[in-house]
Amino acid sequence: MESAVIAAVCGEVRGDFKSGRTRSLDWRLAQLKSIVDLIKKHEEDITEAVAVDMGKPSYECFASEIFPVKSACQLAIKNLKNWTAAVNVPPLLATLPASASMKPEPFGVVLIISAWNFPFLLSLDPMVGAIAAGNAVVLKPSEMAPATSALIARLLPLYLDKSAIRVVEGGVPETTALLQQKWDKIFYTGSPRVGRIVMAEAAKNLTPVTLELGGKSPVIVDSSSDLKVATRRIAVGKWGNNNGQACVSPDYVLVDSSCSTKFIEAMKDTLKSFYGENPRESMDISRVVNINHFNRLVGLLDDPNIASKIAHGGEKDETKLYIAPTLLEDVPLDSKVMSEEIFGPILPIISVRSIDEAIDIVNSRPKPLALYLFTKKDKVKEKVIAETSAGGMVVNDCCLHFLTTTLPFGGVGESGMGSYHGKFSFDAFSHHKAILTRPFWMDIMARYPPYSAHKKTFIRCLLEADFVGVILCLLGLKG
Ligand code: NAD
Repeated sequence: MESAVIAAVCGEVRGDFKSGRTRSLDWRLAQLKSIVDLIKKHEEDITEAVAVDMGKPSYECFASEIFPVKSACQLAIKNLKNWTAAVNVPPLLATLPASASMKPEPFGVVLIISAWNFPFLLSLDPMVGAIAAGNAVVLKPSEMAPATSALIARLLPLYLDKSAIRVVEGGVPETTALLQQKWDKIFYTGSPRVGRIVMAEAAKNLTPVTLELGGKSPVIVDSSSDLKVATRRIAVGKWGNNNGQACVSPDYVLVDSSCSTKFIEAMKDTLKSFYGENPRESMDISRVVNINHFNRLVGLLDDPNIASKIAHGGEKDETKLYIAPTLLEDVPLDSKVMSEEIFGPILPIISVRSIDEAIDIVNSRPKPLALYLFTKKDKVKEKVIAETSAGGMVVNDCCLHFLTTTLPFGGVGESGMGSYHGKFSFDAFSHHKAILTRPFWMDIMARYPPYSAHKKTFIRCLLEADFVGVILCLLGLKG
């Protein structure tokens, strides 16, 4: 799409927002119900498009793409009246008589830029929050999941308000043209590299951003862990979650050296029980998304420092974009595979002598999107929670915080800013306007100049909520 067309689309959407239509609760509810309807009628189409884009198994597509969007809509529909209501808060004594409240209002026209790895979820899930909050929306799905992008562009106008909610398909040129427009909020999901570009463009108009980024999410396994359960949960979080191509994928494991050999053996057994002797034939694992990512991952394995570290897997087939679930043992911390986000089926496992060493390794790197800890010891749990920083944390499992809509989902530092899911999605697209209302009937003259010593004392007592002082001033016994 050409820049001029993109500018025209944005202008039309802005006009629509100005009409005030998107602010009404009826409009919001109608759009949210239509998304549920779209999902019900097109579950098969969505599953097929996502499978074309990355061979995602159908149950995985339901669990991680379709179900979360449907439940996000249902939650918003159920709670919209509450979420949009003004919240009364106590006013300051010095401002009495007064009432104070916060009223959520839509930002206006919002841009959502989505990533390819959960191409339906990462497009529609933020959109649910944007619509619930009463915004007009332009969505840019990922060009790297072309089948899903095309399906979204075809279906959305059939179900949703096609003038206030628009889809612009395309890659870097289209996203660049979109970023040159004026937005009231930009919600971006993708890499930290492009996140910087988005934020720099947004800064030109002081546009607020939510950046849902990625990075290397570590797993710490201490010696008290149940290794059978831990390896099952790590494996399903890694290979059962888009074959490692998820922002919350376990990226590397730091395991206590006293149980590292047992851990690797348990992980091999788990992989065999999940995906058989030949995982290439498994129907329960996605493929690598495209040849560029395949070559990038092969490059990580072909590093001369890494070839001798393969403890399991390592097979690859370019024609099928297949790389076997691969375990690497004790790779150097400065190797390429330990420097960039892996985003694929490779899992380095590194022995550490103590929980302190694991914490030091985590803290010496950019703050991760997720941190996973496996331990039976409360002291270890409390220590890791207190001494590390991450967007989110799961103890004794992986990734499940992503589905927990009562928790905010987002990064910190290099892994992003802002959060969403559940009510947090509504908040991500709302400005909570502070409203203080005062009547005319009482007007304390002490706040107006000229300020005598008595007035100053009185105001000071009011501001400090010194009730006795206020009464004494009123009785003329103070100030
Ligand atoms: P990406 O940054 O390459 O692309 C994301 C979007 O940005 C796409 O829509 C793309 O068209 C656009 N884009 C790409 N290059 C651009 C440029 N130069 N200028 C303007 N726009 C540009 O990311 P990706 O490869 O789609 O996704 C992978 C990354 O996203 C990983 O780092 C992963 O961890 C992260 N991610 C984060 C989350 C999350 O919720 N935190 C979810 C999924 C993926």
